[in-house]
Amino acid sequence: MTSSFSNLSLAEPLNRAVAEMGYETMTPIQEQAIPVVLAGQDVMGAAQTGTGKTAAFSLPLLQRMLKHENSSTSPARHPVRALVLLPTRELADQVAQQVKLYAKYTQLRSAVVFGGIDMKPQTLELKKGVEVLVATPGRLLDHIEAKNAVLNQVEYVVLDEADRMLDIGFLPDLQRILSYLPKQRTTLLFSATFSTEIKRLASSYLQNPVTIEVAQPNETASTVEQHFYSVTDDDKRRALKQILRQRGITQAFVFVNSKLGCARLARSLEREGLKTTALHGDKSQDERLKALAAFKAGEVDLLVATDVAARGLDIKDVPAVFNFDIPFNAEDYVHRIGRTGRAGASGLAVSFASGGNDVRLVADIEKLIKKKVELEAIEFEEDRPQGRINDGRRRWREEGEAGDARDVLDQPRERKEAHFGRGAGGRPHRVPSTPRDPFFEKPYEEPEREAAPAWEAAAKATPARGISANIKSKRKVPALFKNVEPEQR
Ligand code: AMP
Repeated sequence: MTSSFSNLSLAEPLNRAVAEMGYETMTPIQEQAIPVVLAGQDVMGAAQTGTGKTAAFSLPLLQRMLKHENSSTSPARHPVRALVLLPTRELADQVAQQVKLYAKYTQLRSAVVFGGIDMKPQTLELKKGVEVLVATPGRLLDHIEAKNAVLNQVEYVVLDEADRMLDIGFLPDLQRILSYLPKQRTTLLFSATFSTEIKRLASSYLQNPVTIEVAQPNETASTVEQHFYSVTDDDKRRALKQILRQRGITQAFVFVNSKLGCARLARSLEREGLKTTALHGDKSQDERLKALAAFKAGEVDLLVATDVAARGLDIKDVPAVFNFDIPFNAEDYVHRIGRTGRAGASGLAVSFASGGNDVRLVADIEKLIKKKVELEAIEFEEDRPQGRINDGRRRWREEGEAGDARDVLDQPRERKEAHFGRGAGGRPHRVPSTPRDPFFEKPYEEPEREAAPAWEAAAKATPARGISANIKSKRKVPALFKNVEPEQR
């Protein structure tokens, strides 16, 4: 059951901002958390990014802070009253942008500080005075040490993505920051899971928190169509391109397990005429933001990423996610494919398993998602010389490692390289727009593009056959958010 924001009696400036955002009904986390925060209670919330969590804590905090609203130019009249801590620069930036939108019609000021960029502009902003400060822990400590940020009037603290902050090793920084805050305050903690460490953190810093859980961790959305294909390493690129083309997919994330593999794959896809960009830990912050912007603008069709680098991507609902490598941790599988098929929209998650260690990794995934994983074969569009490869829908575990070496030998490299390649030039076909999802319709917007993706252009020349010929284009789906790499101070 969902209810409307108008039931909350938020102040007019906040209601106006919500209306402008186009939100009609509250998400489950908003429905449950907003009244609790308005009542001044601590919250321990199990909610992932993409659930509307930012509004769930921002709106009631802003509402409660309205009593401090003033138009004075004196910095002393604008002390930090709410502190929102996040693990990564990208997440901090995204949350700060949302807070700014919600506070748009109030006189409350907000700012964001995170590492990896010059401190000076942040210092200037802090010195002018801000009521809501969104920050990553490391950079915030730098500002505290430089006496740019004073936290003795903080009334509200949000520890967002707390599990990830602990994973990254921010606990000592968090403890230091929390020691600067007044004891009398409201503390909200959000985490994807309630691990023992999270519970310990909560018991140290929260007072009689109300526990709110909106999604089962480790659950994969039923709207995501999941496929696991047995593909040799050498055939993965070819399989990727074929599926993109057959499914009429316009944009996708492609996850790999290593930085090196990421750069290499992006380069080779690019060489084959696909508009691709790579996101991995060796890229600078600037390069990553540019890559993301290019993907959002539709200048690139494939974003090849490692798990760490992908954490901060503020696009949560792409039409398809490919696990070019099976992730080492089953939890990463859930996170990766959580970027597609959100809020009732359809999504596609395709994983390529190439034997060896993948057997164990897929078994781990199966256990975690509590779904049986069937290994599927890919029928390539061009005939194979021997027909030995992927001969049937055998159960994954029966496949084992043995066949892989022969599979590779079966396939002349030049055929793989030549397939589907470069002639992306004309690309006259524009992907038809599809119905919008009424809920969460914002962030993934299919970019305006001058040309269709390379795989679609190739499809004109080679009609699709083989798997799933009856599958239609994915719906246009919304986008939600997620995180990136730890900040580097
Ligand atoms: P979050 O989980 O806070 O990162 O929010 C994910 C996305 O959902 C953001 O783009 C928000 O603008 C959007 N959103 C938040 N609340 C609602 C709502 N009640 N209705 C529709 N979209 C929302």
